[in-house]
Amino acid sequence: MEEKKTVLIVEDEKSIVDIVRFNLEKEGYGVLTAYNGEDGLAKAMEKKPDLVLLDLMLPRMNGFEVCRLMRERGNRVPVIILTAREEEADKVQGLELGADDYITKPFSMRELMARVKANIRRTAMQSAGSSAGAVITGGGLTIHPENYQVYKRGKLVDLTQREYELLVFLAGHPGKVYTRIDLMEQVWNYGYVGDDVRTVDVTVRRLREKIEDDPASPAIILTRRGVGYYFAAN
Ligand code: CA
Repeated sequence: MEEKKTVLIVEDEKSIVDIVRFNLEKEGYGVLTAYNGEDGLAKAMEKKPDLVLLDLMLPRMNGFEVCRLMRERGNRVPVIILTAREEEADKVQGLELGADDYITKPFSMRELMARVKANIRRTAMQSAGSSAGAVITGGGLTIHPENYQVYKRGKLVDLTQREYELLVFLAGHPGKVYTRIDLMEQVWNYGYVGDDVRTVDVTVRRLREKIEDDPASPAIILTRRGVGYYFAAN
């Protein structure tokens, strides 16, 4: 039997927590809850959930701070931000602080479950493929798929899970250009793509800040203007 996956819900609106918990449990997930940011951060660090659903407006510590501190402390778990409608700036800020994805309130349970499933499946696939992975090198980087570590000229680079997966995917096909929609489908595992391709741009930007010598003039993850992104072929 497959190991039960656990989702941590960090949200102060009890009615939302209750309905999300009900739906997750119905799908077979274990559920942890936190009603404020401090408790959310503590549970994310101690209980090691497989995914975190993170509201932004929270008592005690807001969701941005929770996400930033999780990443700063080395926690790479997939994070989906729950954000209010029309707050585009919040989505981008959340992604820049290390969230993997966002979903806009009010959301349908069907959409939320699809996102949760896509993110957890992604993690499972990564684990399954890890033992067979060969070391990938290029652009001064060395990628060790067996332990998810990336080195830049011998120095360990701290990537989130999604940044790591995007890098490994592009590095696995050097020179091949992928559109943002391709990347949403293949790295994010989304069967459908709305206007969320912005997520790809922010993740690429974040990745470049960590791996490029000069992020403004990238030499590893390149842009094919009007088309998409590719890993520089040596
Ligand atoms: Ca709230």
